[in-house]
Amino acid sequence: MTEPEILDIFKKSGALLTGHFQLTSGRHSDRYFQCAKVLQYPEYTQALCKMIADNFRMKEIDTVISPAIGGLVVGQEVARQLNKRFIFAEREEKKLSLRRGFLLDENEKVLVCEDVVTTGGSVFEVMDIVKSNNAKIVGVGFIVDRSNGKVDFGYRQFSTLKMEVVSYQPDECPLCREDIELVKPGSRKIK
Ligand SMILES: [Zn+2]
Repeated sequence: MTEPEILDIFKKSGALLTGHFQLTSGRHSDRYFQCAKVLQYPEYTQALCKMIADNFRMKEIDTVISPAIGGLVVGQEVARQLNKRFIFAEREEKKLSLRRGFLLDENEKVLVCEDVVTTGGSVFEVMDIVKSNNAKIVGVGFIVDRSNGKVDFGYRQFSTLKMEVVSYQPDECPLCREDIELVKPGSRKIK
């Protein structure tokens, strides 16, 4: 898929909204992105994850791992397309760990998958889990890179789309100056 095609399914699914939004950081932005909205639809999930799977298909991979919750759908679908095992790490007392009896073998080749990367915090945590089990990281695949080019995982990395984040302090926000109604995403005001 091309970048316009990807943006089109983000908009069609309501994952990408344009307007005037208050982000969780308190800053204002003209765009709001909620990846889960596009992953509601199996056909879109399949198409986006195919781009990730294709990027790593020639690599030797034993297992796909994702951080819960955002990465679950992506990791599961990439693993399905590559016909590999899928496991996930989940947060317990603020720290990601493997639970439910999930194990990684020494030298097992692992692909890390995530939905959206901003600071990359959860991915780095999962990479630490892989390394602490003496397994090998093959790379990191994710749907959207919102790091503005800042995140470098130090391994092969692939995102289906790079989305620049433009945000403003409320007192410097041009949208406020234009008197456009401010929306807090998640509230019922969003149509
Ligand atoms: Zn504003």
